[in-house]
Amino acid sequence: MRVLACPHCKEEITHAEQEIDQHVDPQNGDCERKLVHCEFREVGCTAMVPKKNMADHRHGSLGNHLLMLMQTFIPFLGMIQTIDSDSKDVRELKSAVERQGNKISEIEDERKNLEQTVKELVTLKNDNHNKVCA
Ligand SMILES: [Zn+2]
Ligand SMILES: [Zn+2]
Repeated sequence: MRVLACPHCKEEITHAEQEIDQHVDPQNGDCERKLVHCEFREVGCTAMVPKKNMADHRHGSLGNHLLMLMQTFIPFLGMIQTIDSDSKDVRELKSAVERQGNKISEIEDERKNLEQTVKELVTLKNDNHNKVCA
């Protein structure tokens, strides 16, 4: 069993080598000094900060982070407005629904016509029957 030291915090790891990997793992590691991506990476902050300094970075870069958030979300705001204002996709969807509705009422009409025809046939048959039996 070897004793290894963490390259970041010099904490000694007395178990197997993969324990170091676990210790400095960006997601689950418990090393306080390993560099991690800024929490605002998704919106464009490229800073790598020691885990224990993240609060400082968050605080110090508040203005930048807000700006990045705004720049990221402004296009989405535009998109939402487009969707609201009867966009092409929504119009197409609407007319597809309408077409479907028309089809349903056409089928309904056909069904009524058929019913009518059946009624007429039954009446005809009864008339004939009555005529024959009269
Ligand atoms: Zn460490
Ligand atoms: Zn940042």
